[in-house]
Amino acid sequence: MQKRIYNFSAGPAILPEDVLLEAQENLFSLPGVGMSILEISHRSKTFDKIIEEAKADLKILLDINDNYEILFLQGGASLQFSMVPLNLMPPKNKADYILTGSWSKKALKEAKRVGAVKIAASTEENKFNRIPKQSELNLDPDASYVHFTSNNTIYGTEWKSEPETGNVPLVCDASSDMLHKKIDVNKYGLIYAGAQKNMGPSGVTLVIIRKDLLERSADSLHTMLNYKIHVENNSMYNTPSTFGIYIIGLVTKWLKKNGGLDAMYKTNKEKAEILYNCIDNSNGFYKGHAQKDSRSLMNVTFNLATEELEKKLISEATAAGFDGLKGHRSVGGLRASIYNAFPKKGLEDLVVFMKEFQSKNG
Ligand SMILES: *Cc1c(COP(=O)(O)O)cnc(C)c1O
Repeated sequence: MQKRIYNFSAGPAILPEDVLLEAQENLFSLPGVGMSILEISHRSKTFDKIIEEAKADLKILLDINDNYEILFLQGGASLQFSMVPLNLMPPKNKADYILTGSWSKKALKEAKRVGAVKIAASTEENKFNRIPKQSELNLDPDASYVHFTSNNTIYGTEWKSEPETGNVPLVCDASSDMLHKKIDVNKYGLIYAGAQKNMGPSGVTLVIIRKDLLERSADSLHTMLNYKIHVENNSMYNTPSTFGIYIIGLVTKWLKKNGGLDAMYKTNKEKAEILYNCIDNSNGFYKGHAQKDSRSLMNVTFNLATEELEKKLISEATAAGFDGLKGHRSVGGLRASIYNAFPKKGLEDLVVFMKEFQSKNG
């Protein structure tokens, strides 16, 4: 088998080796089926079992009760930027958005096309290096919903607990930290997440929606943009991403086998600490972007003194088998994305590399 390198890509991103190996082994023919997952009908009994098991495993991992529907849609998290306001903003046609990074700004942009949108808080003047405090939120108790981004993939900040929104439904873009820990789904009206960061391949987006909110989806909406239609058709109004759903199913089984989300969270904290400790103990050679109490467990962002030095580190790291450490093109610097599937050993090895780089260049 070919050697694998350390993959710090922000997304599409690393997947568990066990999942890749199982998918590879069964790609020619699913056991007992004689056909590949890439070749079977989404209306077949085999696929029905795959999608139902994926849903059931998500329910177990997150303790999701029967008040919620689980959907696997297409169009990425970016289509949810439109579907959320189109479905949930009426009839009041007003919503609150909390801006903590580029993705929340993109969500806001689409919501503005639908109704009156208020910015409930923004940390843009701090270069999005922190999460706002509850006391900073200017919330309208009569809004249709409040939208926030649980983990800011580009800036490396993450909410430690949900914003309190009273009776106003909370809507969350959890694309880059879904399933990194157990959350209380009951606090949410709707959660959406593109799979390609922490759950599976690109091409499928998980949506968890509280059933009562489906009443807001007007019949006048375009069919493919209507949550109610997707629920009525169990995510199969049209052909879904069958392969994507299959891989999400393997990932949820992998999580269950490895102790569930509490065990995953513990490991994620340990992994992030290895890298943050290295940054904090570097006498300022490495500078973390996020304020300490807002640090993400999934995307660690940091800078060096000059862009030149950053380029040097990235090129030497790449040569040493650490791929994808370049920060997002909009902010520069460095970013290590260390999702669930990223091994602890990779962080230990990266820190050795970073210390050596500092002693040569510091
Ligand atoms: C990657 C990302 C998106 C965009 O996802 P697509 O599936 O490419 O549309 C949206 N929100 C967050 C938080 C992301 O990390």
